[in-house]
Amino acid sequence: MRGLSADEASDVIPGSWLDLELGGESIGKAQGRGAEVSGRLEKGTLLPEKGPGFVRLGGAAVNWGAGHLVSLLMRASEALNQRDSRSVIHIGGISHREGGRFQPHKSHQNGLDADILFVGRSRWGSVLNSSQKVTERFDLEKNWEFWRLLVSQRIGTDEDSESVVAMILVSPAIKDRLCQWAREKNVLDDELNRDVMRRIRPTSGHDGHFHLRLHCSPFHKKCVRTKVLLAAGDGCQKKRIRRGAVQARS
Ligand SMILES: [Zn+2]
Repeated sequence: MRGLSADEASDVIPGSWLDLELGGESIGKAQGRGAEVSGRLEKGTLLPEKGPGFVRLGGAAVNWGAGHLVSLLMRASEALNQRDSRSVIHIGGISHREGGRFQPHKSHQNGLDADILFVGRSRWGSVLNSSQKVTERFDLEKNWEFWRLLVSQRIGTDEDSESVVAMILVSPAIKDRLCQWAREKNVLDDELNRDVMRRIRPTSGHDGHFHLRLHCSPFHKKCVRTKVLLAAGDGCQKKRIRRGAVQARS
């Protein structure tokens, strides 16, 4: 979704949690090739220090985002908290105020990427053990519930819409665990669950947090959609993309 005419743009029906009026215009790409800086953010929105169901980790300098990303994070966190008051989402890094390079990340350049601790965690630290097995520190069902909330928000028109979530990066061991769980519980009969699973991309370096990337807002004409490498289907088959343009600490 991009490059809509004014007429088409007026037909856009965003998910109710996507505030497309809020400031924060994404320019260019979320990440450049190699060390190239491609993205910028204009008039970004700062994620508040805290709010119902979420806490910001890290200072104001690194938590500026596109309006629809900030509104989605705040409202999805609040919705989860309303279901379970113990649930507090810890959000730890979006973009710099004007975007651009955000070391050590390759992306996070135009306000469309966020690093978020796994639901139930309040500190950085792996949910895997030394043999790379998923431990009880990873609350599978709570994370899945949150991802469903995020992925359910769609962008586009009545005829042509898609989830606003481009991808969610987690460690390969976590994706494997999710696939095993999904098979055992038959959860992939549900369309939204399949949509969540296919967007979860195994990428090393994501064992203490997941990385969320959204698609450009259709109103941000200078935002360039990045190619997202997702496996075919739900990505639970053996042949999966394990490496690609986005690497550890993306
Ligand atoms: Zn990241």
